[in-house]
Amino acid sequence: MPGVYKLIFTPGGYYRVQRGTRGNDYLLDDGRRLEVWRHPVFCFSCRAYTEGEVVTPVSEVDALLDSCRREKHRITQGRADRPRARERLKELNERIERLELRRSWSRKRNSPPRCLECGCTELVFLKRGEEIANPSGAGTVRLEWLGMCSLRPRDFTYSPEGDRLPGFSLPQW
Ligand SMILES: [Zn+2]
Repeated sequence: MPGVYKLIFTPGGYYRVQRGTRGNDYLLDDGRRLEVWRHPVFCFSCRAYTEGEVVTPVSEVDALLDSCRREKHRITQGRADRPRARERLKELNERIERLELRRSWSRKRNSPPRCLECGCTELVFLKRGEEIANPSGAGTVRLEWLGMCSLRPRDFTYSPEGDRLPGFSLPQW
């Protein structure tokens, strides 16, 4: 689900509420799709606050995989036939499958993270709560998360290197 966040500018203390996007996928070489993980950025080409790709390193994907596999192991050692355990196992198996896909994508990825709007790699990633020099003007800017929102997916497709593929879209039902 997309995040909703607030950009707080100083001096002045004025702020702007921004929403993330939903419905951004990589189209992998084998035809499978992988969700683009995203983070608020300032893009020097758009001259605007947009979202940038999060290219998670293989080691971090491995850590996520380990934690899923450990939980799966714990459940299978216990009462795995209970409905809640079965449900959780199903979720974990799906998550493991998606993380394995992300791992193989991350291993092959060469390009640095790109802006999801224009493909530029000159980005400033805004860390939650950290005050940085305002890339769009004077003073500073700080990002605060407000929560999540539900939005219609926008159906953007990217190459594994993060280039937007304008002709591709998901089948519509
Ligand atoms: Zn951009």
